[in-house]
Amino acid sequence: MAQLWCADQHARGLRVGLVPTMGALHEGHVSLVKRAAAETDRVCVSLFVNPLQFGEAQDFERYPRDFTADCDLLAEAGAHMAFTGSLDQFFPDRPGQVSEWEPSDFEDPGPFAEGLEGAFRPGHFEGVATIVRRLFEVCLPERAYFGAKDYQQTLVVRDLARRMGYPEVVVCPTLREASGLARSSRNELLNPEERSAGLFLSRALYAARGLWMLGERDPMAFEALMGSVLGQSPLEVEYATVRDPKAWTPGRPIPPLRQAVALIAARAGSVRLIDNMELDAGEGPAGAASRSLPGESDR
Ligand code: AMP
Repeated sequence: MAQLWCADQHARGLRVGLVPTMGALHEGHVSLVKRAAAETDRVCVSLFVNPLQFGEAQDFERYPRDFTADCDLLAEAGAHMAFTGSLDQFFPDRPGQVSEWEPSDFEDPGPFAEGLEGAFRPGHFEGVATIVRRLFEVCLPERAYFGAKDYQQTLVVRDLARRMGYPEVVVCPTLREASGLARSSRNELLNPEERSAGLFLSRALYAARGLWMLGERDPMAFEALMGSVLGQSPLEVEYATVRDPKAWTPGRPIPPLRQAVALIAARAGSVRLIDNMELDAGEGPAGAASRSLPGESDR
């Protein structure tokens, strides 16, 4: 259905912008849709909680879902089409149960999948790259919109698009609550104490930004500072580190840093939160701006 709709738009000479999502939409998703609406002729949004990218069955099962509310929000935001599907609709040529998939059924997510999310969520980027390739094949979009909130994902997806030869990947800034907390579908799962704990992610990132502005360029210094900020919270930290966005390495980069993104993953109770910030860019607390990714202009 989505395939036919997109083909029809192309036949009319219209440019399609794709916004892949897992639903439970919030202002962050809306910002991607608005950007797509401003830059393309037809905005197509996928709403699919992709079982291929979840390691923990419980995390997949309790992921928030509200298709009706999502469609209302999308209509307001200026999307032209939304679609969803089941695993076997997306992959009729592969087993209906994820547990029966062979490693060769998955897309190779490439070198940017190594380290951090790739290390803490084995198989995650294989699942992301597999569904994103399929969405690109179905919609043949001229542009696809992704959030800087999932920083490493943007690197993986851009690399995939480069290999496929399309689409143009547009990375949009992270939208935050006034408190600094990055908007996320998973925020719905936080109780008040966990939400307060979640604020420490952006606090640590802003502290790292401050240290960068003072001239610090040693990755270890950023790790120490973010560790001490996060240490004041009950969060269970998986990583709080920096990477050179123009020379991604699975491990800590060699000093001195020339440019840097700070990245954090931590659990507030059972809810896993991630956030990041480019240290040499001018993002304010409301997430007003973001820097380009390597080879990527922030259009
Ligand atoms: P998800 O539904 O979580 O898979 O997200 C779908 C897209 O929305 C991804 O490209 C995310 O990076 C992006 N996104 C999620 N949260 C935010 C946010 N707070 N600001 C901007 N984009 C976001």
